[in-house]
Amino acid sequence: MATFYDLDLDDGVMDAISMMGYEEPTPVQEAVIPLILDNHDLIACAQTGTGKTAAFLLPLISKIMNTDDTGDVNTIIISPTRELAQQIDQQMQGFAYFANVSSIAIYGGNAGSDYDQEKKALSKGADIIIATPGRLKSHLVHSYARLENLQHLVLDEADRMLDMGFIDDIKQIISKLPKTRQTMLFSATMPNDIRKLAHEILNNPQEINLAMSKPAEGVLQAAYVLHETQKLELVVKLVKDKDLPRILVFASTKVDVKSLHRELRKAGLDANAIHSDLSQPEREDVLNKFKAGLVPILVATDVVSRGIDVQNIDLVINYNVPGDAEDYVHRIGRTARAKSSGVAITLVNKEDMGRMGKIEKLIESTVYKCPMPEGFEPGPEYRPHPPQRKSGYRNYKGKGGKKPYRPKR
Ligand code: AMP
Repeated sequence: MATFYDLDLDDGVMDAISMMGYEEPTPVQEAVIPLILDNHDLIACAQTGTGKTAAFLLPLISKIMNTDDTGDVNTIIISPTRELAQQIDQQMQGFAYFANVSSIAIYGGNAGSDYDQEKKALSKGADIIIATPGRLKSHLVHSYARLENLQHLVLDEADRMLDMGFIDDIKQIISKLPKTRQTMLFSATMPNDIRKLAHEILNNPQEINLAMSKPAEGVLQAAYVLHETQKLELVVKLVKDKDLPRILVFASTKVDVKSLHRELRKAGLDANAIHSDLSQPEREDVLNKFKAGLVPILVATDVVSRGIDVQNIDLVINYNVPGDAEDYVHRIGRTARAKSSGVAITLVNKEDMGRMGKIEKLIESTVYKCPMPEGFEPGPEYRPHPPQRKSGYRNYKGKGGKKPYRPKR
């Protein structure tokens, strides 16, 4: 296994790595860092929790430190959400501690004064710009951004950006960038539209595939099969029983997040909620309190499920089974990041069983189904696959039976 010393990074970056306490590179870092240092275009399939942020930041900082400053923006990193942009920026600040590399995060939803500051950074040529697509696009319609000598473009969580409908924004941004540049695309999944985008924007890319849609090792997974009406009470019990410093509960809708939050507070538990009704400063405040361990329980919609770097989450509860099996892997990836371990519990009602079945297929293992705790009625039987229909006409009763009506084509 390679050490960081084998990777040929600049000394300033090496100092930052030891300050961060990283002892050895993660597999994605071992694979990706040499390719970026060697100027290859790259398509990397890697999920959050694998150390992928450092896999691109470390070599980029190292390269910038060894390049003459042209006064232009050197690198643009595009991320789907502001939370992820902020998190990349935070890691950036840690890694660049011993390096003379400037960076700024550019994302929507904050004050007008920030816009001016962003404009200044773009027109003065900050080394690294970390941006969400919409906000960056709105800057680039003006011509103050100094991009003529742009060297690197990173698209982080590209599948998420496409899911969120950012494809046109991304294409417009790319149309304003110099054609000779190094482009790196990171994605947790590789559906066809990502491949198509990669084909359009990458030049002879190297491909790295480390995701395999498997949850990070060390996550203990379990599920309760139950009726919808039992969920609130069960979550309160699960959370109350465990005196854990960091618990993250995911629900699919704002309505569920709000009622769960209310119920937990009613039970005397110290909980916060994060969803799209909160303003950007409110979201940041909630997330920071959770990160700092000031409020131990956070109820969240999908917004925070990907890419948010909150360390040491002890327990993740899925109040609903995520609709997209890959999202399950991302959600439970909040626990057991890098080398720590955690528990993920999923609540499965009758309607969710098929989805849970798909997840089990994706992760190629069966999640342990816990019996309901004492004092709870038993839940329904777990049937992940609906009974197979017999072939032929439905309801066709053989001789004398009636064939159902089918319109002529
Ligand atoms: P990411 O996949 O980029 O979201 O990173 C997940 C977490 O792993 C972050 O908290 C990083 O600080 C941490 N991390 C990244 N690289 C390493 C490493 N080589 N050793 C230990 N922790 C790491």
